[in-house]
Amino acid sequence: MATTRSELPDANGRFGDFGGRFVPETLMGALGELTEAYVAARDDDGFQGELASLLKTFAGRPTPLYHAMRLTAHAGGAQVYLKREDLAHTGAHKINNALGQALLAKRMGKRRIVAETGAGMHGVAAATVCAMLGMECVVYMGTEDMRRQEPNVYRMRILGAEVRPVTAGARTLKEAVSETIRDWVTNVADTHYIIGSVVGPHPYPMMVRDFQTVIGREAREQMLEATGALPGYAVACVGGGSNSIGLFVPFIDDQDVRLIGVEAGGEGIETGRHAASIGGGRVGVLHGSKSYVIQSDDGQILDTHSISAGLDYPGVGPEHAWLMERGRAEYVSVNDPEALAAFKLTSELEGIIPALESAHAIAYVLDTLAPALSPEQTVLVCLSGRGDKDMGTVMEADEAR
Ligand SMILES: *Cc1c(COP(=O)(O)O)cnc(C)c1O
Repeated sequence: MATTRSELPDANGRFGDFGGRFVPETLMGALGELTEAYVAARDDDGFQGELASLLKTFAGRPTPLYHAMRLTAHAGGAQVYLKREDLAHTGAHKINNALGQALLAKRMGKRRIVAETGAGMHGVAAATVCAMLGMECVVYMGTEDMRRQEPNVYRMRILGAEVRPVTAGARTLKEAVSETIRDWVTNVADTHYIIGSVVGPHPYPMMVRDFQTVIGREAREQMLEATGALPGYAVACVGGGSNSIGLFVPFIDDQDVRLIGVEAGGEGIETGRHAASIGGGRVGVLHGSKSYVIQSDDGQILDTHSISAGLDYPGVGPEHAWLMERGRAEYVSVNDPEALAAFKLTSELEGIIPALESAHAIAYVLDTLAPALSPEQTVLVCLSGRGDKDMGTVMEADEAR
């Protein structure tokens, strides 16, 4: 299946005024080489065929579309449909991108993969595809995230990856990304950096988006088949922004489909303890790309907070900044307690334990969007991952109450 893409970015990796390549000179060559290799692979039937085959036989695609009748009844308005990325191999959408990039790295003759991880889901996806393809894998992870997501640290090690602890700064995702970039700069001859979201310098926001659009392409067909029409709304949580952009892009030309991204409001944007880059940030540069970032008046990147480690990042992909400025997508936020409530409701009413990240999107749909609509209307929600990894966090939150 050919890859769906929006017409952007331009040749310089720009989405309007956003994106680009704000990196040291030493990385420019590697990013140029990567762009060339990716564009060639993207247009190559052999590469696309191998990727499609592995997405089917290894990752378990297509993932189902599920009509959540009990959540629909609970919300008392629009019909709620869940795109079940939690059922993809390793339990989240991350595998779509990890598989695509690892195949590309192999094609480029690289034998070593480096990756960053926050909640551990991207690290597990990278370790998984490296095991399958016989590649060496090093994953950088902040020690605070290693503590919060201990089972995923073991999963990566069992899969044969080396997990390298990062002790700088807040010891979470932002520092892990910086450390991974440093490794890549040093070892670029034989190493590829698999970044886990639509962030970083060009070509990453474009390439990761293209690999994740399989979510929206499948969901678009599945909605047509299930309901005979496109959804009225497509909703997804936004950390770096990869599951959301993957859902949104195949609907971009369908002007009647409203696109809504849900950021992590943490303890409330007004408290400063949040991870809503669009809702509570400003334009700046982070990890090689211009977009909305959470920063102080003098441009210092600030510490973020969210109950979900996968949303706990002070930036957002540049294409989201552009979609927001164009008015094609809207961005809202959901706070920790609301996400926790949706986590429990989805578990109890549907028998699906969602990732805390995905619970943000569900919370917005249940609390705000669906009740304001009528039963003839439909809302498509990306259930980006399963919540098994979040048991420790949810237990801690329960005990704190
Ligand atoms: C990583 C992750 C996210 C956040 O990342 P995006 O790039 O914004 O999609 C959301 N949900 C799950 C389950 C994740 O693992």
